[in-house]
Amino acid sequence: MFHHFHGGCHIVCQGSISGEELYDMVTFLEKKYTIVDAAEWLRKACNEGPSDEEICLTFDDGLRCQYDIALPILNDLGIKAFWFIYSSPLVGVMEKLEVYRHFRFSKFASIEDFYAVFWIFLEKVSKQMDVNYKRSLSDFEMSNFCKEFAFYSFQDRQFRYFRDIILGQEKYYSLMDSLISYYGYKPHKELLWIDRNGIKDLYARGHIIGLHSHSHPTNLKSFDYEDQLREYRINSEVIESIIGQKPNVASYPCGSFNSDTVHILRNIGVNAAFVESTYRAENDIYHIPREDHANIMAKMNEGRLCNEDNSIYEQPAETYKSYK
Ligand SMILES: [Zn+2]
Repeated sequence: MFHHFHGGCHIVCQGSISGEELYDMVTFLEKKYTIVDAAEWLRKACNEGPSDEEICLTFDDGLRCQYDIALPILNDLGIKAFWFIYSSPLVGVMEKLEVYRHFRFSKFASIEDFYAVFWIFLEKVSKQMDVNYKRSLSDFEMSNFCKEFAFYSFQDRQFRYFRDIILGQEKYYSLMDSLISYYGYKPHKELLWIDRNGIKDLYARGHIIGLHSHSHPTNLKSFDYEDQLREYRINSEVIESIIGQKPNVASYPCGSFNSDTVHILRNIGVNAAFVESTYRAENDIYHIPREDHANIMAKMNEGRLCNEDNSIYEQPAETYKSYK
């Protein structure tokens, strides 16, 4: 499961890799696995099931850096992948999740520099936002929030705790929007997301375009049935308007889903869906496990690919988060 790439006009950000690193990763994976083209992998998944040695590559979020940096490598290697696209940027929405991420990494030399400014801003406006900053801080220190995600630093966890638990979407957006205007940052849509022509091009090259919700909520499973249905129905309609075909495969935004999500996907013609964890639910085609590229990088650096039991699969985790 791939997200961000750097190179050319695409900045280095937390968890991003270069084209060379992707190339090395494919070489590393091919020592043990066979990378199967997405269409063939999906056919197998829906029928006899791929073998343990057969894997596929997936790209989430429809990011321009994937198209500019990773696609040429895939073209060279002759690999066709899955591309899971959330559709709001394709109808003109500057989705905040990605805008804020780009802001964090383009305006600050390091993520620690961003966090330092974020805490100063938050402390300043905490009274007017009705946030008890000091108490929340000590609540966080007492909690195990996100401790299961080994690649998050203490600060990463603290930031996500305030963003997701203490502030919630509305207050977080308002805080970030004032920070962005203070820094005079102006995001460019063309730099962040693949446009309609790019998606058409991927499809024409034989890659599989899949669903990933319309607006990429971070906690889809907290939505009621109707709102979840809206997310995937619009997503499907927008993608169909570009490739002329209804997508039949999906991945869950931030890995978040529940039984309603699966029911909805079935009803709109989706035959298979990927999660964001390596936990394998036997025989569940709506729970296909994935490994994050950051973890594969770490394994490459350690020179090993598998767990001690020779498997890439792991114990159940409730959700698994990539660098969002
Ligand atoms: Zn995503």
